[in-house]
Amino acid sequence: RDNLEALLESYQPHCTTAPKGPASMVFATELQAAITNEDIEIHLQPQVSLDDKRIVGVEALARWNHPEKGNISPNIFIGIAEKHGMIRELTDIVLQKSIQEAARLRNLGFNITMSVNFSAQVLCSLELPEILSETLSSSGLEPSHIIVEVTESSLADDRNTMLDILTRMRLKGFGLSIDDFGTGFSSLEQLCQIPFTELKIDRSFVHQANNNKASQAILESSIALAKKLQIKSVAEGVETDEDLALVKQLGCDYMQGYYTARPMPAGDFTLWVKDYIKQLA
Ligand code: C2E
Ligand code: MG
Ligand code: MG
Ligand code: MG
Repeated sequence: RDNLEALLESYQPHCTTAPKGPASMVFATELQAAITNEDIEIHLQPQVSLDDKRIVGVEALARWNHPEKGNISPNIFIGIAEKHGMIRELTDIVLQKSIQEAARLRNLGFNITMSVNFSAQVLCSLELPEILSETLSSSGLEPSHIIVEVTESSLADDRNTMLDILTRMRLKGFGLSIDDFGTGFSSLEQLCQIPFTELKIDRSFVHQANNNKASQAILESSIALAKKLQIKSVAEGVETDEDLALVKQLGCDYMQGYYTARPMPAGDFTLWVKDYIKQLA
């Protein structure tokens, strides 16, 4: 028990004030070990243009393969990482692996962007934009090749700092995406304050749009809003022919979802592209 406490204490809580509940303690220790060993992997999910089906980018999604419990959803372990002050370190690993993978794919000739998820909680230190630039500088990538997806599941401790950091990132040329738009704290207010380059419409709206008038109205308005703001719209969670037909008809720019592909190990991506291109022909 003491060891556990000591171990947890040794981690700098990054802007987190959430209580450390005992229920997730063991899990947290295991997650910590996985982070220390860099056992957090990324899977890639393609984003394609609804215009011409071209692959425009990939999103990096964190994966933790637990030795006994198998693959654990980031919906669970990201929350734990946030709660126990490990999210910054986890983000660093994901970022490093994403940049490495983006550089590899660029060298293979892919003209695609790499989207990386940042929880609002890590957007708390003003050096972050500079650290991001430095991490990128040796990779041969441009800032515009990286899109920072802000997944604001909880409000940042210091909102002004978060706005400042995101603005600095934008000034450096990084893309900025508002993730899960329309849910949680990913609201209209953010669009006024942060220079986003992309609006990612939450999959709940996309998924229900075909049988729910309100969802369809929100989907349609969100796409129109992105157009007015002259930023890209991305439909999340496109699964079926009907979903695809609708988002295309509504003039959405890009889509991401099981219809195109599930997230896959980075090493499988080039093979998937070959198959995808074959199907188009
Ligand atoms: P997100 O950023 O909104 O990522 C999209 C999620 O939707 C992914 O879940 C993806 O697998 C899933 N998805 C994609 N297409 C479809 C579809 O057609 N149908 C359905 N039902 N689901 C689809 P995943 O990988 O489980 O990630 C869940 C969330 O965990 C992410 O949502 C993101 O908020 C968070 N997350 C993942 N990796 C990271 C990370 O490295 N850092 C942070 N801070 N959060 C992360
Ligand atoms: Mg995302
Ligand atoms: Mg999302
Ligand atoms: Mg989501």
